[in-house]
Amino acid sequence: MPELPEVETIRRGLSQQLVGRTISAVRVRQAKLRHVVDARALHEHAVGRTISRVERRAKYLLIHLQPGRVLLFHLGMSGRLRVGAPASEDAKHDHLIFQMGADLEMRFHDPRRFGMCLPTTVADLPNHPRLRSLGEEPLSEAFTSDYLRAQAKRSRKPVKNFLMDAAVVVGVGNIYASESLYLAKLRPNRPVDCLRPVHWTRLHDSVRQVLQAAIDKHGTSLSDYVDSNGERGEFQNELFVYGREGEPCARDGHRIKRIVQAGRSSFYCPWCQR
Ligand SMILES: [Zn+2]
Repeated sequence: MPELPEVETIRRGLSQQLVGRTISAVRVRQAKLRHVVDARALHEHAVGRTISRVERRAKYLLIHLQPGRVLLFHLGMSGRLRVGAPASEDAKHDHLIFQMGADLEMRFHDPRRFGMCLPTTVADLPNHPRLRSLGEEPLSEAFTSDYLRAQAKRSRKPVKNFLMDAAVVVGVGNIYASESLYLAKLRPNRPVDCLRPVHWTRLHDSVRQVLQAAIDKHGTSLSDYVDSNGERGEFQNELFVYGREGEPCARDGHRIKRIVQAGRSSFYCPWCQR
């Protein structure tokens, strides 16, 4: 499943490829995605409109259309947005096709169909049911160590579960939570109520560092993730603990351990993460 760095990489690609282009036609081959796509409404919303910018909020992609309209995409488990020259034939699982003149198209491809495409408007974004309860963006100014600490008040959650709570901070999925905690030298099951200010500072800095490094490497391709050009990311080569059970810690050589928290694997070094 793509996480924040992968979605940000896709956003950058889409932005380069799509801004300034006008949607000339929309074809719906399969309407039953996570939310049923109303082909007529989508056509009316998008056709004849020029793409002005592509934004990201958490793991949602917001394709802005002039004037004031937005296509809100989520890739779900297996969704891809492919932009390029028009394909000679439709592939299985190509559900939505946005034509932009004779030389460019964008295909939403999603074998598992947990993805979504919702027409909305700029005016509705602040109160959009999908967006309104999301926490801060981890790379924004508003995301500070004081903010994190304040969010943890009265919580006894393990720090990894806390980091993965989208109402606190968005886009820190399983891989990046494990890596951030390694960098911060914090054990994933440590309860947040026993973290001191110095820990919060370290944790905050680590989350930013890991996400920024992953964006710089165009994301992590552990399974089938590719960006809008079909390119794989490279951050999977830079992981310190995730998926490395039994391998030596890069700091001290002790073996990486795996535990299960809230049904997800956590990886950490029992020696340097306390
Ligand atoms: Zn270690």
